[in-house]
Amino acid sequence: MDELKVYFNGVMVPGSEARVSVFDHGFLYGDGIFEGIRAYEGRVFKLAEHLDRLYDSAKSILLEIPYTKEELSEAVCATVRANNLQDAYIRLVVSRGKGDLGLDPNKCPVPSVIIIADRIALYPEELYLNGLQLASVSTRRPATDVLNPSIKSLNYLNNILAKIEANLRGLPEVVLLNHQGYVVEGTGDNIFIVKNGELLTPPVYAGILNGITRQCVMELARDMGIPCREQNLTLHDLYNADECFLTGTAAEIVPAVGCDGRVIGDGMVGPITKQTLEAFKRYSRSTGVPVYDKNVATA
Ligand code: PMP
Repeated sequence: MDELKVYFNGVMVPGSEARVSVFDHGFLYGDGIFEGIRAYEGRVFKLAEHLDRLYDSAKSILLEIPYTKEELSEAVCATVRANNLQDAYIRLVVSRGKGDLGLDPNKCPVPSVIIIADRIALYPEELYLNGLQLASVSTRRPATDVLNPSIKSLNYLNNILAKIEANLRGLPEVVLLNHQGYVVEGTGDNIFIVKNGELLTPPVYAGILNGITRQCVMELARDMGIPCREQNLTLHDLYNADECFLTGTAAEIVPAVGCDGRVIGDGMVGPITKQTLEAFKRYSRSTGVPVYDKNVATA
C-alpha cells in the first residue's frame, strides 16, 4: 500500500516525514485540540460543523488557528484527495506548537496543524446487528468547571482511563457518569435512550462533548416525528430504558442492549434504534462537501 500523505502546516508530506517536535506542547501537555471527521463516498460529512466545533475549542483555550475555516476546509478535502480516498476517517489536529519545557503557552508562537486521512476500520457488523453490553465505570467525566468536556482537547487521558476499565472487563465501550452521578457519555460516543417512544439524551451542561452525530440524530428524529429531548439521565433510567444506542463519528450509531448486567428493554435492538440507524445511514451517504467533483451539491 502507498504511504499516506499527511497535511502538515500547509504542505502535503509523506507520513514518515510528518514529524512533530518533542517540544510541541501538544506532545508534552496534551495542549491542543482536534476533530475526528468522516468522508462517505467522496464527500466530507458535516465538515462545517466540525470546523465550527474546532474553532470553538480553540477559542476556549486561547489558541489562534493560523488558517481560515475556508482554508482548513479545502485542506481537509485536499488531504482526502491526496490519498485517493472515498470513505475515510480524517483526523484534524491543532496543537499549541513548539515551546520550551515550561507549560506556558505564550512560549509557543506557531501552532502545528496536521490532517491525516486514512481508511476507516469498521466495528464488527455483529455489534450493529445485536447491540453491545455496557458497564458504568468508576472514572468520572470532569466537571464543566474543571476541564469542560465540550472542548475537544488533545488530552484524552480521562477517556483513556475509562477505556482501560472497559478493556479490563472485556467490553468495547462503557458509560461515564459526572460528579452528580448522572450518565453523561461513553469514552468516545454520546448516549441516547428511548423511553415510552421518546428519545432522551443528556444535556450539554451535564458535561459532554456536543457530538456532531448526536446533533444530527436529534434533527433526524424530529424529522421522523420521534420526540427528542435533552434530560439528565441516571443509571436507573438507563437500566429501565426501552432502547439505548451510542453515537459518534467513528462508531456512527451502535445499539446497546444491556448495562451492568441489566437487560435493556427486551435485550434486542429496538425499532426506534433501527429506524434512526437507517435514517442516519441514508442521510450520511447523501450529503457532505464533495472532495472530487465540485459540481455535486454541498451541505
Ligand atoms: N463524546 C466523546 C468524548 C467523543 O470523543 C466523541 C467523538 N468525537 C463523541 C462524544 C461523539 O462526537 P461526534 O459525534 O462529533 O464524533
